[in-house]
Amino acid sequence: MARHPRIAIIGGGIGGLVAARALMGRGFTVEVYESSPELKEIGAGVALGPNAMKALRALDLETPIRAAGYQAPYEMLRTWKGRVISKTDRAGTAARYGASACTIHRADMLDVLAQSLPADVVSLGVRCESVTTSDTVASARFRDGTEIEADIIIGADGIHSAVRASLFGPDAPKFTGKICYRSVIPVEATPAKSLEPYQGLWLGPHGALVIYGMRSGELINVVCHHDDEQYEHESWITECDREEVLGRYRDWHRAMRELFASSERWYKWALYDRDPMPKWTKGRTTLLGDAAHPMLPYLGQGACQTIEDGCVLASALDHTRDDPLGGLALYERSRRPRASQVVLLARARGADNHLVSPIAALRRNVQIAIRKHFGRDRTGRGESWIADYDAGAPDALAL
Ligand SMILES: Cc1cc2nc3c(=O)[nH]c(=O)nc-3n(C[C@H](O)[C@H](O)[C@H](O)COP(=O)(O)OP(=O)(O)OC[C@H]3O[C@@H](n4cnc5c(N)ncnc54)[C@H](O)[C@@H]3O)c2cc1C
Repeated sequence: MARHPRIAIIGGGIGGLVAARALMGRGFTVEVYESSPELKEIGAGVALGPNAMKALRALDLETPIRAAGYQAPYEMLRTWKGRVISKTDRAGTAARYGASACTIHRADMLDVLAQSLPADVVSLGVRCESVTTSDTVASARFRDGTEIEADIIIGADGIHSAVRASLFGPDAPKFTGKICYRSVIPVEATPAKSLEPYQGLWLGPHGALVIYGMRSGELINVVCHHDDEQYEHESWITECDREEVLGRYRDWHRAMRELFASSERWYKWALYDRDPMPKWTKGRTTLLGDAAHPMLPYLGQGACQTIEDGCVLASALDHTRDDPLGGLALYERSRRPRASQVVLLARARGADNHLVSPIAALRRNVQIAIRKHFGRDRTGRGESWIADYDAGAPDALAL
């Protein structure tokens, strides 16, 4: 019988844990090495599109994720003044793409993923500093001086990946002149005491708002995008003043200003753009998730693509069985073109969401409404190819 290789995953975030689940489901021996002393996530939400939900279904994780998350009955697209551009119902989305979306608190998602794995699979408090690879073995060195060897090493260590830097050198992020604010607000603390008047995507000059429910709709996740050439700090955990957020959106719909005023804690981070990588794999090591395809957040696809990666990586290695190098090549061939296309579309979407000219914005809004109404493209923005994909289907492998 063919031997299944021993696989080490660096990083126990969404990507590392999904990949571990997918690989273990195919019978591989897996170990995850996470730098944090505990499995934890920033207090924010993540939107899982139909493509991510189909990948999670293939891993038997769809049901627990939906139970821990929130499922909006419809998705609203509005202008900054509250005019409805389109309304998309959940049942129609499920019928069209084979699954509806789900939104979830990142910590709740990580809990579900951690519970789906045996407790001893993840080693905590171990920070990888570098990896090396030969034809026969891959090894990782950690900050505490320890080293491990594996048949395959997967770098799932996020946007500032040490594995990526070790394999391919430092990256060259470019500041976009765009920033994000975020907050999590209990529905009870809001003036409406309901998610309804806020939920959806709001498009306005120089910015956009993304608002959705989490934890059965008890919490509201708010992400506010805005143009800003001055602020260049990339950290996701830097706090900022509520007055700054209120000032930025002072001319937007009153419901938004009231919602923002109901939260005291706000965070702010600058958005950096990185070109798609020409290569993910070197010898017996490869990359996955943000380490492989860091992307701007405008499509809400960072985690979705990461989940797809884990699913396809496991199928590829299973397909080639005793040929791990062939499996890694199949994984990269299957995933890199699609993930790169999503990176580039996300880049373009930033500009389209922040249109300043009222005429250009009107043209965009009418186009979206018409496409949604008459076409099979329920996204209205030419994104159906993203939602259509099924990472668990045999044709996800580029054989
Ligand atoms: C506020 C916010 C909102 C978002 N919203 C969405 C959304 O709605 N939809 C969506 O699809 N995506 C969204 N994203 C993007 C998405 O969260 C990321 O694409 C996704 O988390 C990538 O997962 P990952 O596992 O590759 O990386 P990460 O989640 O960053 O996980 C990397 C893990 O590796 C660990 N690590 C780092 N360095 C090392 C090291 N040297 N050694 C060992 N361990 C290490 C880290 O501690 C972490 O646990 C959002 C991101 C943010 C910040």
